[in-house]
Amino acid sequence: MRDYQQSHLDPRSPLVLDTRDLPRSPGAMRVVERVLAAPEDLSLELIRVPAGADLALTLRMESVSEGVLVSARARAELTGECGRCLREINDTLDVEFQELYAYANTTTDETTDEDEVGRMQGDLIDLEPDLRDAVVLALPSHPLCREDCPGLCPECGAHWDVLPADHSHRQVDARWAALDQFKRTD
Ligand SMILES: [Zn+2]
Ligand SMILES: [Zn+2]
Repeated sequence: MRDYQQSHLDPRSPLVLDTRDLPRSPGAMRVVERVLAAPEDLSLELIRVPAGADLALTLRMESVSEGVLVSARARAELTGECGRCLREINDTLDVEFQELYAYANTTTDETTDEDEVGRMQGDLIDLEPDLRDAVVLALPSHPLCREDCPGLCPECGAHWDVLPADHSHRQVDARWAALDQFKRTD
């Protein structure tokens, strides 16, 4: 029999699911809705759920023979920067994930690794690692302000979409330069 530490999970934490009112008979179900302040680190380099922003969770807990199956949906605002032009991006995240959390000392518990199947810690489920994995996986690694964002002029850093079509930093032809000179003295 393995020793399960139950003490480090705080049942009052919004990312800890308490299953005490879920009967341990297969088919029993509870749905919990909660809105919490997003934890730190729900982020990739260019896009993130701002820490402290509203994170809305719908959590369906279902008793199965050897544990609790959690089907979760998470929704939040995203902020980031376009990978081409660095303009601010505001988007929404809507991600679903499902995870089985096995009861201690069941066959599932004894025959699977913890990275394959989650574990109940007593009556509690620590949702944070799986939520974090699902959210980070759903974030775009190359976010764009729009699909066809033309990016920035590498010479002056201006946004291509506000520059005239003939914008260029090529050396002006000497003859045109002479004409320019002529116009200015005119
Ligand atoms: Zn852009
Ligand atoms: Zn330029």
